[in-house]
Amino acid sequence: MTEKRIDGKAFAARLRERIGERAGEFAAKAGRQPGLAVVQVGEDPASQVYVRNKHKATVDAGMESFEYKLPADTSQDALLDLVEQLNLDNAVDGILVQLPLPNHLDEQSVIAAIAPDKDVDGFHVVNAGRLATGGEGFVPCTPYGCIMLLKDRLGDLSGKDAVVIGRSNIVGKPMAQLLLNENATVTIAHSRTKDLPDVVRRADIVVAAVGRAEMVKGDWVKPGAVVIDVGINRIERGEGQKAKLVGDVDYAGAEERAAAITPVPGGVGPMTIAVLLRNTLVAAHRREGITLAGDGL
Ligand code: NDP
Repeated sequence: MTEKRIDGKAFAARLRERIGERAGEFAAKAGRQPGLAVVQVGEDPASQVYVRNKHKATVDAGMESFEYKLPADTSQDALLDLVEQLNLDNAVDGILVQLPLPNHLDEQSVIAAIAPDKDVDGFHVVNAGRLATGGEGFVPCTPYGCIMLLKDRLGDLSGKDAVVIGRSNIVGKPMAQLLLNENATVTIAHSRTKDLPDVVRRADIVVAAVGRAEMVKGDWVKPGAVVIDVGINRIERGEGQKAKLVGDVDYAGAEERAAAITPVPGGVGPMTIAVLLRNTLVAAHRREGITLAGDGL
């Protein structure tokens, strides 16, 4: 019997291994490694951890990692100048500006300055538009990772009733679009949705991207549904104890009814960096005009 728990960590590790092999093949053909530039402004502790992890994963996958750590008081113009320099740098295939930026900087105009074909985070409006209209662009890493896990578990998603809880530009909306592209029937729920438990109860696929600890209760889940929990919520446990991470879904309750469910941690989280590497690999191939067989890896 297939295990209920969807092991995103193991899936991501296999994906990263395949990416590493393909990065080696790319380097042999192109005479250079795929390159990812990560820009961090300021010293937000969570961002520092993410940037460190991304650097290590990039190098481990046989790609070149360019790190730019700028002081918290960096001006908008200086940041835009760096982005422009990276746009023009042939060794750089992907550019990622770590968010959130300090308050005095305008995130939207920084994202808009990244060349869409190097926007491996998939946040540029051109890439959002390509996703919406069926063009070839880059999809935000977290929802792309979710769809990979869903397709791996369910195969064909055609005709499935899917509910995405959350409508952010980086998770909820692209997630809904990806499900629609797979011919699922998609409902997008949000903070104004009426009778959310009833909406969830109808769904064959539930994707929770809310940011509220264990909000989705076990008895909201239709028996046999597949549950993807994107949420990462820190629960402080008092002095001397490490904070606990929980998702947006009550795992214990939902697991009893679901056919399959992602845990937190170890579910969606590890997929995000793996897809970032995948997008960088794809960007490198497109920029060099080299065919990458099986784009999705
Ligand atoms: P946002 O805060 O941008 O969006 C949250 C969404 O949830 C909004 O659309 C909001 O609705 C909706 N919402 C809030 N409260 C409710 C409610 N009571 N009922 C229904 N909907 C509600 O969050 P993100 O999309 O950026 O992230 C969501 C979660 O995913 C977070 O926990 C985040 O940490 C996690 N995350 C995990 C990643 C990973 O790698 N695993 C990557 C990115 C995010 P409205 O629009 O009406 O306000």
